[in-house]
Amino acid sequence: MSRSYAIRTYGCQMNVHDSERMAGLLEAAGYTRSESDEADVVVFNTCAVRENADNRLYGNLGHLRPVKAAHPGMQIAVGGCLAQKDRDTIVRRAPWVDVVFGTHNVHALPVLLERARHNAAAQVEIAESLEVFPSTLPARRESAYAGWVSVSVGCNNTCTFCIVPSLRGREKDRRPGDVLAEVEALAADGVLEVTLLGQNVNSYGAEFGDRGAFAKLLRACGGVDGLERVRFTSPHPRDFTSDVIAAMAETPNVCPQLHMPLQSGSDDVLRRMRRSYRSQRYLAILDEVRAAIPHAAISTDVIVGFPGETEDDFRATLDVVAQARFAQAFTFQYSPRPGTPAAGLPDQLPKAVVQERYERLVALQEEVSWAQNRALEARRSRCWSPRGRAARTAPRAG
Ligand code: SF4
Repeated sequence: MSRSYAIRTYGCQMNVHDSERMAGLLEAAGYTRSESDEADVVVFNTCAVRENADNRLYGNLGHLRPVKAAHPGMQIAVGGCLAQKDRDTIVRRAPWVDVVFGTHNVHALPVLLERARHNAAAQVEIAESLEVFPSTLPARRESAYAGWVSVSVGCNNTCTFCIVPSLRGREKDRRPGDVLAEVEALAADGVLEVTLLGQNVNSYGAEFGDRGAFAKLLRACGGVDGLERVRFTSPHPRDFTSDVIAAMAETPNVCPQLHMPLQSGSDDVLRRMRRSYRSQRYLAILDEVRAAIPHAAISTDVIVGFPGETEDDFRATLDVVAQARFAQAFTFQYSPRPGTPAAGLPDQLPKAVVQERYERLVALQEEVSWAQNRALEARRSRCWSPRGRAARTAPRAG
């Protein structure tokens, strides 16, 4: 009798990608998919970016304790960035957890589940560096017409608020031929849209010494038969070069859409975030993108309340957001992450101040988005091609 599995995914698109690999691995090992908390195996693929990530995981594990007690043989596994960070702390705080695995050894999940069952003991296995590119593992994709394709994992940047480099390691790039082969296989399988993934997707090629590799990859995706849309996330403003903008503008199936985190509009705050660009450079990139792709939809991430942020700093952020005219902005209140340099900075701001600024930023962006959307009224999108519409309404295989 095959065992069932359920996966709970938190955090970024890279985690969504990795969860599709965990599902593929488990199905290759004979497990069947379930959405229930009472599945034989429940896997949490965790995120560690913000403070409440911890609370949410331990809250969910607490919720599953009586479920497991009532379901002999049930197993609970915890993977992803919080597992990579907390390691055996997880089994200390929740001894009913059976397996803890990290971001570098996703492939080990089925073996660790079997070992935990065989030895009747929790298995904690965390690798310090990437052992197997998750992209090489079998995938159970969530969508029949859209696919995630990771081009790199890890990040060489050292933004002071970010815990990702310490959990995902330094940037490792897949070879262009492997990436393209995956994109072609997906298109041959009926996928219309791919999203190229990397913690810092546009520095792709840094590891094998080709700074132009990302632009070349976008252009190569342009030649893939049947592929209607190409998206990518997340780029870093520092690595946004003219060849990438030209490739976006000159490759028909690359969507006129760009998500580029700003984080702050204050040069002083950007310096203390170690973001290695300044507000004028950021706005200049947007100008260059809009000159090449006039109807580009641009979105961003902004952090409010970084330690030491003054009212003038915050006004600089409002000013850049007003100038940038984003279609959408993901706005966050600064959350100190233990283990990041910024968590130890002086002048951590009171919650009330952060909340008040957050509300002002959201109000401004809502005005901008509203104006942007009004400007789109009566315009037809080029993405809804007849083939695309047919594919979206076709019954799902399998
Ligand atoms: S670029 Fe900065 S924010 Fe993004 S993953 Fe790397 S260190 Fe974190």
